[in-house]
Amino acid sequence: DSAPVITIDGPSGSGKGTLAQRLAQQLGWHLLDSGAIYRVLALASIHHGVDIENEEALVPLAAHLDVQFLSEDGSKAIKVVLEGEDVSKSIRTEECGAVASKVAAFPRVREALLRRQRAFKALPGLVADGRDMGTVVFKDAPVKLFLTASAENRANRRYLQLQNAGHDANLAQILADVKARDERDTNRAVAPLVPATDALVIDSSEMTIEQVESAAFDYIHSKL
Ligand code: C5P
Repeated sequence: DSAPVITIDGPSGSGKGTLAQRLAQQLGWHLLDSGAIYRVLALASIHHGVDIENEEALVPLAAHLDVQFLSEDGSKAIKVVLEGEDVSKSIRTEECGAVASKVAAFPRVREALLRRQRAFKALPGLVADGRDMGTVVFKDAPVKLFLTASAENRANRRYLQLQNAGHDANLAQILADVKARDERDTNRAVAPLVPATDALVIDSSEMTIEQVESAAFDYIHSKL
């Protein structure tokens, strides 16, 4: 169909999830958090005892993943349900993110999740966030954004988030984790994390979320 798509790609902690939520809400468009799909797959592989190194075994799990994204009334948060169980919180752990980035490196796993992601495209429009939204999944999107920030900056944000939530946090460890995940996402053979050639790159290191949002809207209005 002819629904327009805005893609937002970038490394973890760049603020793309927050930007995607805000844009979708302001525009009244649908939202795809593609990272959540990889995180749910990671959790499903743990639940079902599927070896995360075994591409052969992961493909059918990905193809038949029983996941639902439910938007809750009166809140912009989306509830993620795996096989009837609310996993909105459990998919957000560092461990789950790390496993997600491992299963996401398998080409046939990514292939198995393509159609499911494209099904989110619907009128009046879709905001899709991830790593390969503009380069693979929605290659023809009229608006592509690539949101980045320095590793130090992203680690620092994550550290403050954890502290504010009352968790113990070790900045050096978080920085090491951020760099390891960047390394894996950037250097994998299939759908590596790179800006689409026609994407607007925004470095949010020295920007507030309001500044990022306004830069994004200026660009969107120039394109749509
Ligand atoms: O964005 P988020 O941190 O939730 O994504 C978790 C992991 O899923 C990423 O580190 C990345 O390896 C993988 N991913 C991906 N392609 C996407 C979205 C996420 O490979 N479109």
